Amino acid sequence: MNHIADLPVDLDALRKDFPILAQRVHGDWPLVYLDNAATTQRPRQVIQTLVEVYEKHYANVHRGIHWLSEQSTDLYEEARESVRRLIHAQHLEEIIFTTGATAAINLVARTWGDSCVGAGDEILLTEMEHHSNIVPWFQLAERTGCKVRFLPITDDGRLDLDRLSDYLTSKTRLFAFTAISNVLGTANPVRQLVQAAHDVGALALVDGAQSVPHMATDVQFWDADFVAFSGHKMMGPSGVGVFYGRRDLIAELPPFLGGGSMIHRVTVDGYEPADLPARFEAGTPPIVPALGLKAAIDYLERVGFATIAEHEQRLVSLAHALLEEIDGVRLLGPPPEEKAGIVSFVIDGIHAHDVAQILDRRGIAIRAGHHCAMPLHQRYGVMASNRASFYIYNTAEEVEKLALAIREVKRVFRR
Ligand code: PLP
Repeated sequence: MNHIADLPVDLDALRKDFPILAQRVHGDWPLVYLDNAATTQRPRQVIQTLVEVYEKHYANVHRGIHWLSEQSTDLYEEARESVRRLIHAQHLEEIIFTTGATAAINLVARTWGDSCVGAGDEILLTEMEHHSNIVPWFQLAERTGCKVRFLPITDDGRLDLDRLSDYLTSKTRLFAFTAISNVLGTANPVRQLVQAAHDVGALALVDGAQSVPHMATDVQFWDADFVAFSGHKMMGPSGVGVFYGRRDLIAELPPFLGGGSMIHRVTVDGYEPADLPARFEAGTPPIVPALGLKAAIDYLERVGFATIAEHEQRLVSLAHALLEEIDGVRLLGPPPEEKAGIVSFVIDGIHAHDVAQILDRRGIAIRAGHHCAMPLHQRYGVMASNRASFYIYNTAEEVEKLALAIREVKRVFRR
């Protein structure tokens, strides 16, 4: 069975860009890396960029007037422009580099949240959020007295849109939701959800950590107010992420972190914050990771987001077809057509950690646990699940190996 033959990408050639994938582990098992929702691997092009920056271009940005600092600053600002184009933001200063999606969401909670939310206000989340999009809002509630509510999900892993109007009300100040569930793979109707938030006068934050790496993104089409995502989940280095905020909403917000770079002026009497984007980039920013992220974006754009999404769709369909045939395996979430490249499952009577451990002995890397989504697992009455998550470099053969290894797990536990 070859579900990838007619894709406009040569996977054998593409995989050669990822030296880490060519390794053999635990004896002679080829590494099968299916933990891409946790973090992805980097192609040589990104790794070489990091080496080249350190060898030729590195200095602090926006500080020195020397040659090296000017080069480094130009490259850093080119990286910002590359992110702007990637997500179709209207203005360059709407792109703020952070250390990741978590930092971006916390930034919104600490700036917009602290200055615009009060007791009696509500923040609406969904039951399928990552802890990164839950805990900052509970913390905001502790500081302000606002209330955090959760839009329920259905048994088959969709947002319960029939109940949206019960939860999204005139009290809601922000609807913060993930574009794609990091457990169920569910692709949510982002534009429709943003519209629903705006209809009641609320703002909308889209957690794009699992969507931006895998499909074309247009924040203006979404009409999103805030968007967060991470570089390491899209072939970039760890330590860099992006906060997108609509210029008119964030230009006057009080800065969250204070320090160098984020000021116009400091005197013994106080300080005057800088304009965007420096206002939210206090201290030395993630210079080299941002340049690595640009290289990753260049790579992804060369492959093409339509190709990436189509390939992952095929892998997910294949995974569903093969795993559904195995007795006692329960797949979480909606059917493959409504999913991105993530497949989570539980196996009757076998703990998720045992499954992952046995698969690891065969070179297959998957995730076991609650995947930083405990409320979601509570909703389905399970403590833990297994998750296989795909990227453009995964093959149909690897999905077949996953299914065979799960059959083997079942045999081991029957004995
Ligand atoms: N949101 C979602 C949906 C995620 O899957 C993750 C990471 O797994 C995050 C946020 C947090 O990303 P990071 O740990 O890179 O800040």
